[in-house]
Amino acid sequence: MFTLLLPLVVFWACLAAVASKKAGRAALRDRTQGDWWIDLVNLGIQGWAVPLGAGWLGSKLWAPILPAGGLHLGFFGGFVLAFVGVDALYYANHRLLHRLWPVHRVHHGAPAMDVWVTSRNTVWATAFVVYPWAHACFLHLLDAPEGYLLGASATAALDLWRHSGLDMRVPALVTPRHHAWHHSPSHSHVNFGANWMIWDRLCGTAYDPGHMPAAVGLPTGLSPLRQLLWPFGAKG
Ligand SMILES: [Zn+2]
Ligand SMILES: [Zn+2]
Repeated sequence: MFTLLLPLVVFWACLAAVASKKAGRAALRDRTQGDWWIDLVNLGIQGWAVPLGAGWLGSKLWAPILPAGGLHLGFFGGFVLAFVGVDALYYANHRLLHRLWPVHRVHHGAPAMDVWVTSRNTVWATAFVVYPWAHACFLHLLDAPEGYLLGASATAALDLWRHSGLDMRVPALVTPRHHAWHHSPSHSHVNFGANWMIWDRLCGTAYDPGHMPAAVGLPTGLSPLRQLLWPFGAKG
């Protein structure tokens, strides 16, 4: 139950914190109808279709080859695998997405940070992200998938917080300020990490000048429908 509720609680807490600030309310008011369409459609995909589909996909892909529950890591091992191991994979995945730029381009199009931007994407771009494939694999293989699910849920909660635009500093974690710099037009090639900063620090891509960037977002110049379905030909 806690696993299911965690991202939901963080979502509403971040939204309330943003809405309590004048600048945050103005940014939410400035969102266009197209912004809402893109983010809500993808929230349905990333928030519902992917988590539900991962379990089904795991049983279909792996069941004929590997026995369910054959990986004995226990609850805590499963949690660490999701929250640290898969996080390292995501770092590499995110760097690759910047080389497959059109696939990831729409996520960088939002002109302001807020929790809804977490799901800003082209609808099929999720298939290029490591999470659904890792979840499908490990939920099938692990002996105690509940620990892995909690790690995946904490990752989803941090994803929402990281996009909130709240200027907070938490040691070791990728904060909203780190990620705002990743969304800035001048520094999109820094801070690729999701949960932990260690991967950026080890690979020389960490950046934090101690304040929020003056601007975020690279406008795509594409219609909402193009952003959802066919992101090729965006400017920048
Ligand atoms: Zn990126
Ligand atoms: Zn982002």
